[in-house]
Amino acid sequence: MHHSRLWLCREHFNKFIENRVMRTIKRYNLIRRGDRVLLGLSGGKDSVVLAYILSKLRETIGFKLYLTHLNLGIGEYSKKTVEIVRKISEKINAPLIILDLREILSIGIPELALKTRRPPCSVCGVVKRYLLNALAVELKADSIATGHNLDDMVTFILREFLVQNLEQIPKLAPRIEGAEDYLATKIKPLYETYEEDIKKYAELNNIDYVEEKCPLADEKTITSSLKKHLGILENKFPGLTIGFIRRFVKNLEKYPKPRDTIRRCSICGMPSSGEVCSFCKITQKALGKPMGPYAREYIREIVRKSITDY
Ligand code: SF4
Ligand code: ZN
Repeated sequence: MHHSRLWLCREHFNKFIENRVMRTIKRYNLIRRGDRVLLGLSGGKDSVVLAYILSKLRETIGFKLYLTHLNLGIGEYSKKTVEIVRKISEKINAPLIILDLREILSIGIPELALKTRRPPCSVCGVVKRYLLNALAVELKADSIATGHNLDDMVTFILREFLVQNLEQIPKLAPRIEGAEDYLATKIKPLYETYEEDIKKYAELNNIDYVEEKCPLADEKTITSSLKKHLGILENKFPGLTIGFIRRFVKNLEKYPKPRDTIRRCSICGMPSSGEVCSFCKITQKALGKPMGPYAREYIREIVRKSITDY
């Protein structure tokens, strides 16, 4: 491993990575004994590797792991991701809930983007955040875990700093507390794990994941350029990225707190910064009707049918 100047065999490499995730969980108090953790699985390497590692740690820590995947209706790409996540769920023996956007809205992300005249990743972000949170609320999950890795997080922090969006920076912490019964807590157990190590872990353990990028991904963003350059810097100065993130967490308190207070959408009751949430707004625009209440009912039904300890 370039960053720590260690050269390990497969067994010791696995132990090193699993211990690092365990330490991150403890250091930032991400998962506690008895928790119900909902992991959002995209089918990409990060979330898939996280599913494997969390499945190994669930006995030691003593928590329940649930998986979810959002089928975004993006043609062949979505078909592949669904296949992969089904395999993982069987392999690690964790219940999986697939939410199918075409079943909920009758259209997928490509059409939703066209109808709202917004970039696909922007509508996709709104939809993913909404459905994931609504599912976690319904499951009474203690937290939503996502596969954001160390390189992702440092890139996001640098981007917000570059555009001086300082109030967004505290939202990039390893744990973001939820609120009452309508906003789930979010955790990032791969916060201190390098992307390169996640790839290696998947390779060494024959873990299948979707390698191709989403066909709607926009490659010409500040984020993708920053990530490339961060990789070059890390190669030149091994350990730079991990040192940065640890100091960043210590300094979190010094950043300005977000000014927008979280309210509840007057239509569906889910979190919103204004009177109506973004999900209700974009579905109103695309389909002539705010779909928040329907999506919540759909999720309630699915949870009732598929989760036995609900
Ligand atoms: Fe959604 Fe954009 Fe990611 Fe594709 S690349 S899954 S559209 S956020
Ligand atoms: Zn709403």
